[in-house]
Amino acid sequence: MNVTTNADLHCHSVISDGTLTPEELAQRAKSQGVDLWALTDHDELGGQARAAAAAATLGLDYLTGVEISVSFLDQTVHIVGLGFEADNAALRQGLIQTRGGRAQRAHDMAEDLARVGIKGTFEGALKYAGNHDLISRTHFARFLVETGVCKDTYEVFRKYLTEGKPGYVAHRWATLRQAVTWIRDAGGMAVVAHPARYKFSANEEFALFTEFKGLGGQGVEVVTGSHSAAESVTYADVALEFGLAASRGSDFHSPEESRTNLGELPALPAQLTPIWSLLQDRIQRAPQALAHS
Ligand code: AMP
Ligand code: MN
Ligand code: MN
Ligand code: MN
Repeated sequence: MNVTTNADLHCHSVISDGTLTPEELAQRAKSQGVDLWALTDHDELGGQARAAAAAATLGLDYLTGVEISVSFLDQTVHIVGLGFEADNAALRQGLIQTRGGRAQRAHDMAEDLARVGIKGTFEGALKYAGNHDLISRTHFARFLVETGVCKDTYEVFRKYLTEGKPGYVAHRWATLRQAVTWIRDAGGMAVVAHPARYKFSANEEFALFTEFKGLGGQGVEVVTGSHSAAESVTYADVALEFGLAASRGSDFHSPEESRTNLGELPALPAQLTPIWSLLQDRIQRAPQALAHS
């Protein structure tokens, strides 16, 4: 397994803010030619057993996955965990704690939207949340599209729900240290998700990668559905500068909303170390794949 492996190590199911079930995602990954897959729901492991079982049935190699919400320098940073033990108690407890404030935050978001005349959004968003423990901004975005406030979810995040816009509520998530430690102590590897999406200054970004590396973080998403080709080049350089392995993932949420389909991504630049080359003993190999390797 090398940079030519069609690895897609970032996507979401109905267990967080995706619209497909773990089984539907596995099927889609398989038909899209993905060789190695990970389901990385936000702050939740509820889909892991289903995803792994569906992958095994379809002959798809699988890594456990999660995307943990972290607060760092007053911004939200996402840390993807890969190849951990999904039954690790400290990781599970940490995720329960991380997602704990979401219901109150959702009420506060709805109240803020009501102030600009957009009513009923808590109930509206809840309708879209497959998992009521994990009500997210994406569910609000779907309701705002349904009711014609915006034409698509991209417009929602331009006009609402982000810093300085109606419906935005600051929230304290896990610390970087907690997220990396939970993942590592459960036997997995931590990866900085979609780094180009953050609005850090050069110094702040340097601080993020320095602290992440110091805590034992191992990877950075270089090729993701959130990066342009130029951004992938930028973060390939960051991977080399910090001695981090590189990851690749679509961040697929929904056939209707996502611009990047599962597995439909450029290959990692050849000079990088793919994170999956370091996770060989953590891959849950599908029976057919084993027979051919
Ligand atoms: P939450 O975890 O509730 O803060 O919701 C964050 C989710 O909103 C992300 O995981 C994305 O699925 C979705 N999202 C889409 N576009 C944006 C954007 N521009 N900014 C933040 N979140 C976005
Ligand atoms: Mn999401
Ligand atoms: Mn993310
Ligand atoms: Mn994601």
